[in-house]
Amino acid sequence: MSKQIYAERLACIQARIAKAQQQRPTNDAEIKLLAVSKTKPAHMVEAYYALGQRAFGENYVQDGIDKIQALEHLSDIEWHFIGPIQSNKTRAIAEHFDWVETVCRAKIAARLHEQRPPHLPPLNVLIQVNISCEPQKAGLLLEDVAAFAAELTQHKRLTLRGLMCIQSADHDEHLSEQFQAMQEAFAALKQQYTSVDTLSMGMSSDLEQAIAHASTQVRIGTDLFGPREK
Ligand SMILES: *Cc1c(COP(=O)(O)O)cnc(C)c1O
Repeated sequence: MSKQIYAERLACIQARIAKAQQQRPTNDAEIKLLAVSKTKPAHMVEAYYALGQRAFGENYVQDGIDKIQALEHLSDIEWHFIGPIQSNKTRAIAEHFDWVETVCRAKIAARLHEQRPPHLPPLNVLIQVNISCEPQKAGLLLEDVAAFAAELTQHKRLTLRGLMCIQSADHDEHLSEQFQAMQEAFAALKQQYTSVDTLSMGMSSDLEQAIAHASTQVRIGTDLFGPREK
C-alpha cells in the first residue's frame, strides 16, 4: 500500500469518529482509535505510527510480541491485547503489553498481576462483557461485573480502566439496547473507581452508534489494514 492510502484510510476513520463525537450531548472524553493490526506485518504498524497513530491491538500473543519487539524503538507506542487469554500465555502478555482488554476470569487476573514485571507500570485492564449473553462467547454477564471489579482492584499490579465488549458480527436488532446497558454499567463503574475511564465498544460497522452510547475507544482492523487471510 502506498503512503497516501494509509493516510486516506486513517483520515476517513478519524473523520467518522470526530463527527460521531460532535453529535454527543457532552463532547468531553477523548475518543481513542485502536488500530487492530492482528496478522498484519510490523511495517504496516510503523506506517500508521508515522501518521500519528499510537494505539494498536493484537489478538495472538506471539504475532503481537514479534511486532512489539520489532518496533521497540517506537517508545510511545501503546500495545493492547484483545484476544482470548489462555492461562499459559499470561506471562508473555504481562511482560509485553500495556493493556489487556479481555479479562473476564479471576484466575487470569491473578496470574497477570503476579507476572507483571516490577519495572513496568501496572497493567491496564478492561473487563470483557458478553453483551449478547450468547453462551459460546467470552466475557462476563453485566450482573457479575461489580463483584469481579471488586476482586480485580485488589491486584495492585493491575489498573482497572473500564469495560470492553465484542458485539455480534451479524446485524443484531438488540444492539442499541446492548450498547445502552454497557453505557449504564460503565457509568456505574466510573462512579465507583477513579481509575475507570475507558469503554472499548464499537467497530467499523457501528462506531457511530457506540460513540453515541459513550464509547471512549473504537477498534478498527480491516478498514485500516485491509482484509485478513483466513
Ligand atoms: C479483529 C478485531 C477487531 C477489528 O475487526 P475488523 O472487522 O477487522 O475491523 C476489533 N475487535 C476485536 C476484539 C477483534 O478481534
